[in-house]
Amino acid sequence: MADTTKPASAAPTRRKAGRHRGEGQWAAGHFTPLNGNEQFKKDDDGLNVRTRIETIYSRTGFDSIDPNDLRGRMRWWGLYTQRRPGIDGGRTAVLEPEELEDEYFMMRVRIDGGRLTTEQLRVIGEISQEFARGTADVTDRQNVQFHWIRIEDVPEIWRRLEAVGLSTTEACGDTPRAFLGSPVAGIAADEIIDGTAALEETKRRVVGNPAYSNLPRKFKTAISGSPLLDVAHEINDVSFVGVRHPELGPGFDVWVGGGLSTNPKFGVRLGAWVPEEDVPDVHEGIVSIFRDHGYRRLRNRARLKFLVADWGPEKFRRVLEDEYLKRKLADGPAPEFPSQRWRDHVGVHAQKDGRFYVGFAPRVGRVDGATLTKIADLAEAHGSGRVRTTPEQKMIILDVTEDRVASLTAGLEALDLTTEPSVFRRGTMACTGIEFCKLAIVETKGRASSLIDELERRLPDFDEPVTINVNGCPNSCARIQTADIGLKGQLVTDADGNQVEGYQVHLGGSLGLDPAFGRKVRGLKVTAAELPDYIERVLTRYRAERQDGERFAQ
Ligand code: SF4
Repeated sequence: MADTTKPASAAPTRRKAGRHRGEGQWAAGHFTPLNGNEQFKKDDDGLNVRTRIETIYSRTGFDSIDPNDLRGRMRWWGLYTQRRPGIDGGRTAVLEPEELEDEYFMMRVRIDGGRLTTEQLRVIGEISQEFARGTADVTDRQNVQFHWIRIEDVPEIWRRLEAVGLSTTEACGDTPRAFLGSPVAGIAADEIIDGTAALEETKRRVVGNPAYSNLPRKFKTAISGSPLLDVAHEINDVSFVGVRHPELGPGFDVWVGGGLSTNPKFGVRLGAWVPEEDVPDVHEGIVSIFRDHGYRRLRNRARLKFLVADWGPEKFRRVLEDEYLKRKLADGPAPEFPSQRWRDHVGVHAQKDGRFYVGFAPRVGRVDGATLTKIADLAEAHGSGRVRTTPEQKMIILDVTEDRVASLTAGLEALDLTTEPSVFRRGTMACTGIEFCKLAIVETKGRASSLIDELERRLPDFDEPVTINVNGCPNSCARIQTADIGLKGQLVTDADGNQVEGYQVHLGGSLGLDPAFGRKVRGLKVTAAELPDYIERVLTRYRAERQDGERFAQ
């Protein structure tokens, strides 16, 4: 097992510089910081900024914050400055960070595995209403994001979150980000293996541990024992996916090196079978490989996917076994891919204990503090007080007896949280966009929400699963490359020659069976105003021309 007691600044064993020296790998003896991010991480561990926030910045105010803390280390505690209102997308690339940002923060609360109690949900709702102007978005990593947070209020928000077992620790930054976990782990009747204990122990070992708080870049983990493969395991840095080994029984298949943004890559299998109790060791070994061998010279080559692409899965597994675990892993089978397209658990489903879980669909993850409090009321009145968030920006109430299901679904409908959404509401995701994000070029959530309304009105009987993912910039926070229709925000030229908000279209992306990245259709850009017409045309044509059983991506 890797040494977890080593401080972040401690060097791994120095080795002779190899051919990767130019990539800035610590394991190749490359300890001189090669860019600004590596420098501020070396100057001080991001975790240490918490003390300064609590004892200095929350008292002396926004203007007193050290720039390397403000735009760097505060991410280690889930805090980003948010975009100053009124700055149009055309100026995103030309303004300095201090011109783009205002004095408020986005705060991300990590909800590993999407597991919430109603007590926790109420606290999130109260914080939203008291400190965040009512904002609370459910993200596609099962987190909740607040906006409009003042630095003065951060210690009190932490106090309230931590009092109920929640935190913002390493919710952002070059760290082990919030773990995706099957939202129905331990509950679903069809489960292969319950990954809950493995997820909790893995989190306990690595999150907030200085041994892993200076990684080359962000590090995304997913663990699911659901046959629905409900954690987008193909696009995480490391994923543990439930499989049944013919001799050894239920365990996990290990995937590494997935990720989107520029140079998107699907993860690859190591071909190793890992029993539940070994998941934390194997995870620690993989995150340690990333820390020691990951590329630190260029930020856009620093994700694990680039190392995996260069090494290949055989070498990666060999280094993991020989240098970190000090033992061999058993070979194991690949997971079976489900034929069903939706992985979001929307609707009413049987639990293994005879009760039901009820999944519902907020619009593109947008809820608010008052609504979260009402969801907590419903969960307590109909279930046992357990709630989940999903990697598709949806939510689930657990433990509902059969005779209470109808009352719960009616209560959710009254909050515009339907358990039977149209394919458009079910399949549309959107990132934060220009409303709050400093990198954004265009609006996303509001536009995606009105697009859902428009498509429901125009195509009321369209029932083929279709995913429409809307991004506000070339990054891929809303996973545009894996959607049937991916919309990448940019300025485009309208019919009158004006620069207006619009989207580059990617078509045919998919996870699951036959995974593929959407193809950027050359020259296919639509203005925001043209979007409903364009998508209606694409879907109408697809419906008219598809062969039997053909999915959108084909
Ligand atoms: Fe911001 Fe771009 Fe990510 Fe959207 S995709 S949240 S606009 S960085």
